[in-house]
Amino acid sequence: MELEIRDVSKTYTNGVHALKRVNLTIEKGMFGLLGPNGAGKSSIMRTIATLQIPDSGEIRFAGQNIFTNPTEFRRQLGYLPQDFGVYADASATTMLDYFARLKGIKNSKERKNRIDELLQLVNLTEHCHKAVDTYSGGMRQRFGIAQVLLTNPKVIIVDEPTAGLDPAERNRFYSILHQLTDNAIVILSTHIVSDVTDLCGDMGILNNGCILARGKPDALVASIERKIWRKTVAREELNQLRNNHKVISTRIIKGDIQATILSDTLPADNFTQSPADLEDFYFSYVPELAV
Ligand code: ADP
Repeated sequence: MELEIRDVSKTYTNGVHALKRVNLTIEKGMFGLLGPNGAGKSSIMRTIATLQIPDSGEIRFAGQNIFTNPTEFRRQLGYLPQDFGVYADASATTMLDYFARLKGIKNSKERKNRIDELLQLVNLTEHCHKAVDTYSGGMRQRFGIAQVLLTNPKVIIVDEPTAGLDPAERNRFYSILHQLTDNAIVILSTHIVSDVTDLCGDMGILNNGCILARGKPDALVASIERKIWRKTVAREELNQLRNNHKVISTRIIKGDIQATILSDTLPADNFTQSPADLEDFYFSYVPELAV
């Protein structure tokens, strides 16, 4: 059971070339699609959700082209879009019952059991009679996941789900997503590196519509091990460093600027070799905005 994305390209009518021959094979488990704003993450997600058709290329799930019979594929798909808004003064239970009917679960006992089970999974049982539009951002996201899971989808797409969540809600959301990965392909798009570090066994980096790197996070980090050098520098030193070295990121640490350089050898005096992490790998591909 694989999702195969082959040479998918998309140009919008305004001329933006949002996807440029994207190739990805995604297997069961949690896949992190990491990239900055405007990289094309939502574009690829909407395309997988069959909400837009690529200009060229194809997407196959379990060997079938998803655009040949999109209705059939959508039955196996759960999609939580980025701008998922719930403006309902109805309760979570009422809303889920409504969606379950729409999704064709006709038997009322079956609907009730499924809804109770899902409310428990997303920790909303105790709030299930409150109006959904009184929920916090994190509760709405959890409600959204419950809705997506009504029909046991085999492919679950969540677009930037943790943006705007506080750390406690983010952790809670992570643990719910994590429980889904035994039975489904879960694709998580995010610009937050730690979302991928904490959750994903497999990942790709997307920027300017292109996949720049692809693999297991541990293997990607291992590929730059012993190449990461850090040093606290004065602001004036930074420009000079940038001219002569690949400065991949800068951090303000206790008021000082710490520069990180990617280099096979000691780049300059007083740099210390540091263990690499996924953020270093990401910034070696997607330049960070300068401090
Ligand atoms: P991300 O989700 O990574 O932020 P998007 O896929 O939303 O990236 O956007 C990729 C590029 O395509 C951006 O330049 C964006 O402005 C443009 N874009 C996205 N959707 C549309 C659209 N419907 N029409 C025109 N341009 C779009």
